[in-house]
Amino acid sequence: MTVYDEQAAHPEATGEFLHDLLLDPRRHTSHDPAVVEPTGSGAVTVTTYAELRDTVDAYARRLMSLALEPGARVLLEAEAGAQSVAVLLACSRAGLTFVPVSPETPQERLRGLIDAARPALHLQAGAGTRTELPAGLGTARFDNGTLTVEQAPHPARPRRHTPSVTDPAYIVFTSGTTGRPKGVVMSHRSVTAFYRGMLAHRIAAPGDRVASTSPLHFDFSLLNIGLALASGAAVVPVPQRLVRWPRHFLRALADTAATHVNGVPSIWRQVLRHEPARLAALDTLRSVLFCGEEFPLPELRRLRELRPGLRIVNCYGATESMACSFEDVPDPIPADLERLSIGRAHAGAELLLVDEEGHVVDGPGIPGEMYLRSPALFTGYWDDPEATRAALVPDPLCPESGQTVLRTGDLAVRGARGEYYFLGRSDSQVQINGNRVELGEVERRLLQYPGATAATAVPLPLPGGGSRLAAFVVLSPDATPVRDAGGAARQPDDISGALREFCARALPAYMVPVEIRLLDALPTTPNGKVDRAALTAAH
Ligand code: ADP
Repeated sequence: MTVYDEQAAHPEATGEFLHDLLLDPRRHTSHDPAVVEPTGSGAVTVTTYAELRDTVDAYARRLMSLALEPGARVLLEAEAGAQSVAVLLACSRAGLTFVPVSPETPQERLRGLIDAARPALHLQAGAGTRTELPAGLGTARFDNGTLTVEQAPHPARPRRHTPSVTDPAYIVFTSGTTGRPKGVVMSHRSVTAFYRGMLAHRIAAPGDRVASTSPLHFDFSLLNIGLALASGAAVVPVPQRLVRWPRHFLRALADTAATHVNGVPSIWRQVLRHEPARLAALDTLRSVLFCGEEFPLPELRRLRELRPGLRIVNCYGATESMACSFEDVPDPIPADLERLSIGRAHAGAELLLVDEEGHVVDGPGIPGEMYLRSPALFTGYWDDPEATRAALVPDPLCPESGQTVLRTGDLAVRGARGEYYFLGRSDSQVQINGNRVELGEVERRLLQYPGATAATAVPLPLPGGGSRLAAFVVLSPDATPVRDAGGAARQPDDISGALREFCARALPAYMVPVEIRLLDALPTTPNGKVDRAALTAAH
């Protein structure tokens, strides 16, 4: 069903690839805007579908001239924008797998990702500042439709030539329990199945402008790009520097005439607090979609009050299936509502609840863990068969079939109409401003600090909703960091600062604890486990 193939890059390839769906000419007209970018000073840059397609073609041709094997990885270190959207579509067209990473990735972490993903090519924007890349890695830059190869990738004879829809379209690295990031591998087949399931919710249409407030390496931005382009609408990537400031953010939404805004709930916190009047006055805005964590109900009520009639969609799910469900928030929100529904899985997919004994729970009111049956599941974790086996498990409804389903790690309960209510995690994964954080990964980093003997990270609730990350660390009394070079005792504040700095060298900013306290020992529960509840309460 390949559609975007007038001069097909791989004429023998069959099936629907990521770029086939997103650039399907039956879904838009060539002169419609595909990407609208705010500049921050009132002006916008519009890229039409025809221009986007030309850029994709130019980038894809250059990538194909490198004669890489289908599925070879391309590290895409870039912010979201028309050029980077073109690059990721060009990777799809050239049969290559893109691995989006943030330009803010600390050097040590990037090295770790390169060692793990073994990319053939590192690709950054013309203005990208990454240097110090390992020798032997191909490097290139893209700018304005031109892809310039600085160092050609190692020539390796491709073992195959024709891409398949089961090849990875992309790999997104998220926080992992073992202390190293987990690479979620998504095939073309899965991601297009997800987009089709999402389209059934009729969230966007031609003429709409979907603002995407997530950075490119967060798969939420891929959801937004897919939602916009597969709907024939335009995507509006809002740069992070504008999202962080409520007034700039709202200005960007007004300048671009955004009709939809997609983002994690925390993007609204400062806006609701400081700029309610400007938010109320955004006359083009018709829909808000949030994902990644629960929207604190008081803030959601405030948003509803300010914007009655706004369509608000609660999107639940994980990177392992891009997302899972789309449920409209009631309008008005009933006064006695205590918990938002996450609805049911999107068309083509199905959620199940499984109790602690492994039995499928049938009926309302009984909690269980959510398992997802879906054609949009990830292929596996990159180079991690053990973690893959733990997440992709035999279908509890029919284990004999050999079919696997996603064990989400999320607890839920069903309502009277079969709808689901999210109750929390069954493990130590938390969401910090919508970013997924494995507490274990933060703790492992803290323990690498010279002299650290114990460390626990905990999420602490913020007064207005959401959480911040705190950590408790025990240092051995004779550890050098506790004393300065002359042997004098250091102030706890200096040590906390040094610990934070140490974390920031290897972890993305959202995983660096905002507060680090030094303790002589971590409190324990009667059965000897770290007493997380006591740490949280004592704070
Ligand atoms: P996403 O890209 O959807 O944020 P992540 O893989 O980063 O996905 O995180 C997934 C986890 O985030 C889920 O397993 C769940 O615990 C939490 N989550 C995602 N969306 C929601 C939501 N709408 N409500 C509550 N929790 C959510």
